[in-house]
Amino acid sequence: MTPTMSKEAWLLGILDLIEPVGECEEWQGALVGRTPVGYTPRGYLFEGNSQGKHSVRSIVWRFKHLAMPPAGQVVRMTCCNDRCVCIAHMKLMTRADSVREQFRRGEHNTPARRAAVIQRARANPNAKLTIEGAREIRASEEADEVLSQRFGICTKRVGMVRRGEAWPELAQGASVFNWRP
Ligand SMILES: [Zn+2]
Repeated sequence: MTPTMSKEAWLLGILDLIEPVGECEEWQGALVGRTPVGYTPRGYLFEGNSQGKHSVRSIVWRFKHLAMPPAGQVVRMTCCNDRCVCIAHMKLMTRADSVREQFRRGEHNTPARRAAVIQRARANPNAKLTIEGAREIRASEEADEVLSQRFGICTKRVGMVRRGEAWPELAQGASVFNWRP
């Protein structure tokens, strides 16, 4: 791409990289994080925009609505498809709404976040069980009912600890789960 290309040629180049896939229109070019981005010459997206990578969703929005998304609002995709740049799947949200929406979609449910939740739960002084208790349950051949009474937890919970579904030594997958008392 050259900085001297016409605005029309640039826009056609962008549109060429968008292909219908299922219900969506997917960007075939680069993503930065979860955002499709396309090279944009200076001033082609809005007056004074910097030359470089800009959100393809902003570009599509700009040429559909003849204006950029309003200040303080962000474009989110109702289809949750990172590659989608379909105008019909775009929804304007305030930044605060966008954060709430991310929580609703579980997008903040990252391994680091889950590890923090587990550590907080395990640090709870009122917790009936500790990791030592969990180890004792797993090492024990006593009946669920006996252990249930000893630790003051229900028999279902004893089963979960025995199967490693509760208080696992290593939570599956991520090393950040490797919690030690
Ligand atoms: Zn979509």
